[in-house]
Amino acid sequence: EAKNNGKGTYKVYDRELAALAEQRRRLQAELAVALAEGQLFVAYQPVVDLASGASHAAEALVRWRHPTRGPIQPDDFLPAAEDAGLLVEIDRWVLDAAAAQLAEWRQIDPAYTIAVNLSVAYLVSGRVVEDVRTALREHGLPGNSLTVEVTESSLIADLDAAATTLREVKALGVRISLDDFGVGYSSLTYLRKLPVDVVKIDRSFVRELAWDNKAKVLFKAVLDLVHALGLTCVAEGIEEPRQLGQLLAMGCARGQGYLFSPPVTADLVQIGPHRPRARMTAASNT
Ligand code: C2E
Ligand code: MG
Ligand code: MG
Ligand code: MG
Repeated sequence: EAKNNGKGTYKVYDRELAALAEQRRRLQAELAVALAEGQLFVAYQPVVDLASGASHAAEALVRWRHPTRGPIQPDDFLPAAEDAGLLVEIDRWVLDAAAAQLAEWRQIDPAYTIAVNLSVAYLVSGRVVEDVRTALREHGLPGNSLTVEVTESSLIADLDAAATTLREVKALGVRISLDDFGVGYSSLTYLRKLPVDVVKIDRSFVRELAWDNKAKVLFKAVLDLVHALGLTCVAEGIEEPRQLGQLLAMGCARGQGYLFSPPVTADLVQIGPHRPRARMTAASNT
C-alpha cells in the first residue's frame, strides 16, 4: 500500500518501524534482567477430572512480574524472548521451578503431576533430555509425575529430530502432550510421528461447542480418534457449565478452564482432598 503514498509516508513508516524495533530491544534487555533477578514466576492452572471435579494435576504457565508495568502474559513477551535467544533459558527456568513446586505438592498429594510447556527452540536445543533428567533427579521425582507439552500449532521444521528427542524424554517415564490440537498445520502428521500420550484439544473448539454444530461434530470426532489411539484427551478453555455438560456427554474425561480455575500463583492451588463446589452440581443439571 505504501508505494502509492509518496516519499513522506516512507519516512513515517520507517520511523514507526524504528520505534517498534527500539521498543522490542528494550523489552529484550529487560527480559535478560528479569531472568537474572527473578522477576519471572510460574502460575499454575489445575487440570480437572470433569466428572468429579477433582484435580491431581496442573499446567505450569510462565508470567513476568515487570517492575513498573506489573504482570505480563506469555503471549506478550515470549515472541521477543525467542528473537533474543532467551526462550530456551526461560523454559529451563520454568522446568526447574515447576519441578521444585511439584516435589513440595507431592508430599501432600503423592499422585500430583505437573505439565510444562516446551518451546520448539528448546525442543531442538539438544538440552531437553539432560535437563529433564536433572530436574527429576534433583527434586526426587518419578518420570511419570511430569508431562511435557509441545504446541501443535508451531511448525516443527525437523519432525524426525523432534520425535527422537521426545522419545528420549518419554523413556524417562515422562508423558508427552500435544497442545492446542486442531489448529495447527499438520495435526494428524504430528499425532502419527510424535510419541504422544495426551492430546489437548484447542479451546477454539470448546468455545464454539455451545452454538456451532460443526465444532461439536469435530470435537467428538477428534475425541473418538484420541480414544481409538489409546490416548488421553484434555479439553482446554472450559468457561461455562454448558460446555462442561456437553464435554461430559461426549465422554471427555479431563479439562481445564476458567470455570474451574484460572492460572493462579502456587499458594492458591488447592492440593489434597477435593471439596465439591455448588457450580459442579449446577453444571451436571444442564
Ligand atoms: P497453552 O499452553 O495452550 O496454555 C493455555 C492458555 O490458555 C494459557 O494462557 C491459559 O491462561 C489460557 N486459558 C486457560 N483456561 C482458559 C479459559 O477458560 N479461557 C481462556 N480464554 N483462556 C484460558 P497463557 O498463560 O497466557 O499462555 C499462553 C501460551 O503461552 C500457552 O498456551 C503456551 O503456549 C505459552 N506458554 C506459557 N508458559 C510457557 C512456558 O513456560 N514456556 C513456553 N515455551 N511457552 C509457554
Ligand atoms: Mg500448554
Ligand atoms: Mg493449549
Ligand atoms: Mg497456546
